[in-house]
Amino acid sequence: MAESPYPMLSVEAALAAVLAQAKRLPPVAILARQALGYILAADIRASEPLPPFPASVKDGYAVVAADGPGTYPLVGEVTAGRMADFTVTPGTVAYVTTGAPMPPGADAVVMVEQTEKLWARNGPAQIEIRARVRPGDDVRPVGVDVAEGELVLEAGTRLGPAEIGLLATAGVTDVSVYPRPLVAVLSTGDELVEPGTPLGPGQIRDSNRAMLIAAIQAVGGEVMDLGISGDSQASLEASVQRGLRADVLLTSGGVSMGDLDLIKPLLEHAGQVHFGRVRMKPGKPITFATSTTANASGDHTCLVFGLPGNPVSSLVTFYLFAVPAIRALAGHADPNLRRVQARLSHALPLDPARPEYHRATLRWDMATNGFVAESTGSQSSSRLLSMRTANALLELPERDGELPAGSLVSALLIG
Ligand code: AMP
Ligand code: MG
Repeated sequence: MAESPYPMLSVEAALAAVLAQAKRLPPVAILARQALGYILAADIRASEPLPPFPASVKDGYAVVAADGPGTYPLVGEVTAGRMADFTVTPGTVAYVTTGAPMPPGADAVVMVEQTEKLWARNGPAQIEIRARVRPGDDVRPVGVDVAEGELVLEAGTRLGPAEIGLLATAGVTDVSVYPRPLVAVLSTGDELVEPGTPLGPGQIRDSNRAMLIAAIQAVGGEVMDLGISGDSQASLEASVQRGLRADVLLTSGGVSMGDLDLIKPLLEHAGQVHFGRVRMKPGKPITFATSTTANASGDHTCLVFGLPGNPVSSLVTFYLFAVPAIRALAGHADPNLRRVQARLSHALPLDPARPEYHRATLRWDMATNGFVAESTGSQSSSRLLSMRTANALLELPERDGELPAGSLVSALLIG
């Protein structure tokens, strides 16, 4: 019986081998308003305090708190964006709007709802103040939201909407981030045709490429589409060479034990194969290599994943190994998939020889305050329908028999 020459690694050992090679890419400067989803490469500190001046929290009247309730003349008004050119002396008040700088002399604000404006026939309007306030009430002191020099965002932070807002607050227009990894995708197989093409004898449509391109985009990678290569040494080699210019190259197909499974020897030739078999179901023949080439700006290393051809195996191994690698290159502090515990809604059969990554849909169950995992059905590795609506891979142990309904299992989140 033909035996693969590659030792069978555990998923943990294989993932550790991948992450040992996945170094974050050198930082680049981009526009802050285009930085959504990137990981920050340098700390951001506030160059000024926020607010830069004591500001009113309410629409109302700036007062001297010690005056207390009573009726006082209106000495002026300040709206947001203007500065007062007068002083609030004891026994007077000034109109202020939310966000307006406090006029000098005033130390608190009474909101408009607790006042009444009494028009005077001649002279200034009189304002009836009905509430007693303490100094500082409804005033934001300088720097209360952000102190000058405060660490606003730490290197390693993922930039979401709030973080983009904080960059704007800090006046940052250009920001240092880790770039999106460039990920090349190549489908291999003489049987493959593009989705728009009628099927000839023996042909099937290339589903892996469209699927992997979408999966790369979903994790924040940039795509280099290398199309389909037939199973010839020359064609594969030319496509792989092009792909090695990317940060990551994904091939699918051609890594099993068939006569035309040419990817492993090709990768041995192009670089170093770190593993060629992993004890898992599906995805056993997943292969990982690195290839380093010299270019103008020094050495460039490409992480190459030879994904199995079966669509489900391709996508499962992409999530387990390529996603953490892409996230590590993109600067994520913890590139691993998130893990939760879930209860099985039904009994699941186990595989005695390999841990299985069973596709499932998790939902939160209010009654038990936990996740419930529902299998997507038949787990055949050619049946992409088993990935439909799946948002988790259940990590089922290798064992005889089955896991009964209600068992607590560990689930990797992929949705
Ligand atoms: P291979 O690993 O090349 O032996 O392929 C294993 C199985 O996956 C075969 O049935 C292939 O036809 C199928 N396959 C390989 N590549 C693709 C692809 N890009 N899209 C859909 N099916 C594929
Ligand atoms: Mg093939």
